[in-house]
Amino acid sequence: VHAQPAGPASTTIGDIRLTLIPDGYHRCDPTKTFLGSTVDDWRDHPHLLDDHGRLVMTMGSILAELPSGVRVLIDLGFGPRTLILSDLGMEFWGGRLLSSLTAIGVPPDAIDVVVYSHLHVDHVGWAADADDGSLTFDQARHVLSAAEWEHWHDKPDLGGPSADQLEALTPRVEVVSEEEVAPGITAVPTPGHTPGHLSFRVESRGERAIVLGDAVHCPLQISRPEWAFIADAAPDVARASRERLLRELDGESTFVVGPHFPDAVFGRVLATESSRHVAFDVAPITPPQRVAPEAPAGAVELRGLD
Ligand SMILES: [Zn+2]
Repeated sequence: VHAQPAGPASTTIGDIRLTLIPDGYHRCDPTKTFLGSTVDDWRDHPHLLDDHGRLVMTMGSILAELPSGVRVLIDLGFGPRTLILSDLGMEFWGGRLLSSLTAIGVPPDAIDVVVYSHLHVDHVGWAADADDGSLTFDQARHVLSAAEWEHWHDKPDLGGPSADQLEALTPRVEVVSEEEVAPGITAVPTPGHTPGHLSFRVESRGERAIVLGDAVHCPLQISRPEWAFIADAAPDVARASRERLLRELDGESTFVVGPHFPDAVFGRVLATESSRHVAFDVAPITPPQRVAPEAPAGAVELRGLD
């Protein structure tokens, strides 16, 4: 059975409900993007790959609904477009975030807080309307780390926010460090993938989950934290952050939320003496999304990036 991007799914942590809001998917050549991994490593894990041997990654947001009624959206997907980076065998297809929210009855104005793990292009995609430049989630606080904003704020970047997104966010961003961004949701600095990357600890009534963000990109990196992801800005720092998070996840009482994981994003890390792996025991609400095998018309294709 081949991997697919995860479909909508929910779990509860105490009184906080977490739901994956799919935007689309991302796939890549695994050995080109996980530095240190080999063809043999991936051959042993075909359930993470598509039928062409590419690693499948979900793209989307995690919605946290608090008992007070406050709604927090973690990250904003890739947006309504397609990008193909041929040399890395990498594709990003977005476009479903707002329809995924509508499908569960949540309009954009019902989001109270948007928190960004970081500002890479697949996490900031729906920040602003592509036509008029207005904030998509205009009623929300927009929260991220000071180091992340400092890194991206003064120039648009192909790998980060566009000029329109920066213009819309600039008057509205709030920076935080290690603190509660909403009751029960704490920012956890995990730098390395980007300078100001944040993961999030969700705690309610004695239960706990860690939303990894891009500190860990795929389930196999939980067993192989020494693998760097090609987009890690500071691989050694990213590895140290990853290992710190994984120590917190040892023990079955803490859920792991891997927003880029294929098929299922909620699970638990099972640690043995020699290694760790993820057990996915939270069934999706619906089957994983079926996606067209070929790029749609209008896709942007780039070559020769390195
Ligand atoms: Zn990402």
